[in-house]
Amino acid sequence: MATRLRLLDDAAWVSVNDEREVGTSEVWPVAETFCSCELAWLVVEAFVDVGVDGRRVEARPHGHCLNCGESGTTPWLPVGKVTDDGFELVEGVRR
Ligand SMILES: [Zn+2]
Repeated sequence: MATRLRLLDDAAWVSVNDEREVGTSEVWPVAETFCSCELAWLVVEAFVDVGVDGRRVEARPHGHCLNCGESGTTPWLPVGKVTDDGFELVEGVRR
């Protein structure tokens, strides 16, 4: 089964199989990869890129850290996975 990924509304939403699954304005805990904080709290402002690796959906969001204010685009981070029942969001710290 192929997974259809799209960015909608000026990259404010990630659409997975024609459903809006992941939106901006979410705050993601991100370990080590983003700023000098041990744990960044990333306010997602836009999605620069989305991709799928097998059933795993990944994205590179642009945003800023709530702690230190650093802004930028992250490396690839997991967003969720496609299961037989639909789409399941990743929970907890992303790395
Ligand atoms: Zn930070």
